[in-house]
Amino acid sequence: MDRFFDKLAPSYTFEIFPPKGNKSTEGTYGVIDSLVSFNPDLISVTYGAGGSSRDNTVEIASGIQNRYHVNGVAHLTCVGTTRAEIKAILDQLKANNVRNILALRGDLKDKSDLGDFHHASELIAFIHEEYGDDFDIFAACYPEKHPEAESVEQDLHYLKEKCSLGVKGLISQLFFDNDIFCSWRERARSMGITQPIIAGIMPITAAAQIPKVVEMCGASVPERVRRFVAAYGHHQGAVKEAGIAYATEQIIDLLARGVEGIHLYTMNQADTVRRIDSGIRSVLYTKRYEVRADG
Ligand SMILES: Cc1cc2nc3c(=O)[nH]c(=O)nc-3n(C[C@H](O)[C@H](O)[C@H](O)COP(=O)(O)OP(=O)(O)OC[C@H]3O[C@@H](n4cnc5c(N)ncnc54)[C@H](O)[C@@H]3O)c2cc1C
Repeated sequence: MDRFFDKLAPSYTFEIFPPKGNKSTEGTYGVIDSLVSFNPDLISVTYGAGGSSRDNTVEIASGIQNRYHVNGVAHLTCVGTTRAEIKAILDQLKANNVRNILALRGDLKDKSDLGDFHHASELIAFIHEEYGDDFDIFAACYPEKHPEAESVEQDLHYLKEKCSLGVKGLISQLFFDNDIFCSWRERARSMGITQPIIAGIMPITAAAQIPKVVEMCGASVPERVRRFVAAYGHHQGAVKEAGIAYATEQIIDLLARGVEGIHLYTMNQADTVRRIDSGIRSVLYTKRYEVRADG
């Protein structure tokens, strides 16, 4: 199977989460059955706190790779772990032919949580030290800066350092304002960050999502989004309709602005993905055709 980075132009990727605790993975495979019909270039699987949910990440990323023959990406966080624990997971991923890792620090509740690694960059260096080029490594980036960073400039400085350790591509935190993303991307390029930057898009499907997202990552919410949430928020079907239309338009605009990839935070909602997919498909393929013709 081609490795992901052999065919990026612009890429189209999805993120899913595994079942929590000891819940069966059957429902998640039902979602993947639908998602693969939209021909994503890869599907990434988030990594939560706690043992069984972590095992599910490995199992599902392996299933995506081996049952569906789609590139599976395992998210891997290093906060609160030891080198030996990380190595055990990487060995398992390698044995299952999962060659794409999104290397993350993970959220920090307390500095005493840290364990053997302090930043994602240390995890990335460790993977290369132990496994050479066996894994293609993605890292996270933040168009509105990481909440702990003092400034965008400081965050980009550390991002550049992280990229220099052998990151093949970046996946962005979700954002709702394309102008913010595009001017941040220009700034990143001007600082010498050359890796493909894949834009993270999360469709709004419920009014309650907005305060949660703002609290989690501090994303700016444009007036237009606030307006439709205020107008339709009392009716879940209506706000979902508006959120899908907004995400679709956001993607069409990003592709026109030459973004290297779109990463949909699917929230395991295959029906939402189906509706966005049908709204962007001809635009995506037109862009891919142009990029190939130019290349
Ligand atoms: C696409 C995406 C997917 C994600 N998936 C998951 C997931 O599956 N599971 C999960 O738990 N979390 C996930 N997260 C959240 C992520 O774990 C948090 O945002 C976390 O707080 C930071 O992780 P990071 O890898 O970006 O950290 P880092 O790159 O280590 O950065 C964290 C902070 O430290 C600063 N920093 C970096 N290096 C240094 C240094 N050398 N010295 C001083 N400061 C430094 C950075 O500027 C930043 O403020 C995801 C985030 C994104 C964007």
